[in-house]
Amino acid sequence: MAEVNVHCVEKLQVLRGMVDLLPSETILWQHIEESANRHFKKAGVSEIRTPLLEATELFSRGIGEATDVVGKEMYSFLDRGNRNCTLRPEGTASVVRSVIQNGLTSQGPQKLWYSGPMFRYERPQAGRQRQFHQIGLEFIGFGSPRSEVEAISIAWDLLKELGVTGLNLEINSLGNDEDRKTYRKNLVAWLEENFKSLDSDSQTRLKKNPLRILDSKNPSTKALLTNAPNLKDFLSKESKERFQKVEDELTKLSIPFEVNPMLVRGLDYYSHTAFEITSSDLGAQSTVCGGGRYDGLVEQLGGPSTPAIGWAIGMERLILLLSRNEPETYYSPTYYLVNRGEQAESFALKVARDLRYHNQNVELDLSSAAFSKQLKRADRSGAKWAVLIGDTEAKEHEVILKDLRSKKEERSKEERLKLKDLLKRFS
Ligand code: ATP
Ligand code: MG
Repeated sequence: MAEVNVHCVEKLQVLRGMVDLLPSETILWQHIEESANRHFKKAGVSEIRTPLLEATELFSRGIGEATDVVGKEMYSFLDRGNRNCTLRPEGTASVVRSVIQNGLTSQGPQKLWYSGPMFRYERPQAGRQRQFHQIGLEFIGFGSPRSEVEAISIAWDLLKELGVTGLNLEINSLGNDEDRKTYRKNLVAWLEENFKSLDSDSQTRLKKNPLRILDSKNPSTKALLTNAPNLKDFLSKESKERFQKVEDELTKLSIPFEVNPMLVRGLDYYSHTAFEITSSDLGAQSTVCGGGRYDGLVEQLGGPSTPAIGWAIGMERLILLLSRNEPETYYSPTYYLVNRGEQAESFALKVARDLRYHNQNVELDLSSAAFSKQLKRADRSGAKWAVLIGDTEAKEHEVILKDLRSKKEERSKEERLKLKDLLKRFS
């Protein structure tokens, strides 16, 4: 007798740190994406889409070998042609590469935005994933402090418009290259004196990326750093005036902010204004939006010397903040079609289509279940109106409208009308 081959099929699961977005969640994602799209249009910012996969060198050159992102978080591999490839860990380097490669820099300053997945091999936790998503803005070819204020206010207003609460804006000036060089020297000297008191992570950083130590989350290091040399004292007169201008303009726009001298941001390419928007409604991963000026990057990636400023919003953190609201706030059909009976069901197909031609959101019940069951579903869908269709209505080309969102006592009121009269309401 042949041996019975028992297959034990293991359940396939997503990779650690990767997340499925289910229909109940995509409603909110779409709402955010649509709001962002509208918001950028109003501000004259155009969308750019770049590939998810890039040459590894783009990020090692653009972001810097000494950063956490390049040092230990990238998804890199050799492709079948032995090219060193990396799934993009952030958007800025790709946008800058594309702008240079396609000669956009010669067409004048560019106001761009992007959105999509990014990949970083991090320890997953709430608000931190290995595939996560960002919406980002890049102003390339803009050098004035005013462009920084415009970029910040676009981020601030988008978050406000979406209904995010507990927002805090923190800003800092990292000065120009010269300022940072002098500061770095002083900081390193001070850190070396205090080497023994630093946590081990910061001790390693001292050699590779000393400024990043200011960003440490370690409580004892944080306490120690309150006595460290302050970047502010090393800014040139020019850098100081520039930063003052940013502060003044933000104040005039009534955008509240705090100056945080410890804010340095993780990536190498920042200069002058750096900023973060946090929300007190988020836990440990409280930064929703981070950005700043990166005047050296275009040149570093082989383009002409070009000033630039940008930011990125972390979608997952934004979702955490907004998902406490009722999903109906973001999408529900206006009409829910309750229909049963042979003629009714065929007529309902036409009613759904006609209403959609008139730009209405319509959900057609396809179950043929009892009216009472369908009505319950209509209620749950969040629709404003139930449209009741039986064979009698179908014969007469009529529908019965039932208001689902009015007060209880008025709910029993139903209105019978010809389909063509219902459609007239929209023309
Ligand atoms: P953090 O200090 O939280 O690691 P970061 O400085 O690495 O942030 P940026 O590179 O500036 O973050 O990215 C901008 C925004 O993208 C962050 O403020 C955050 O909202 C989001 N973000 C970054 N990494 C992740 C991640 N692994 N998962 C989810 N969101 C992320
Ligand atoms: Mg990070």
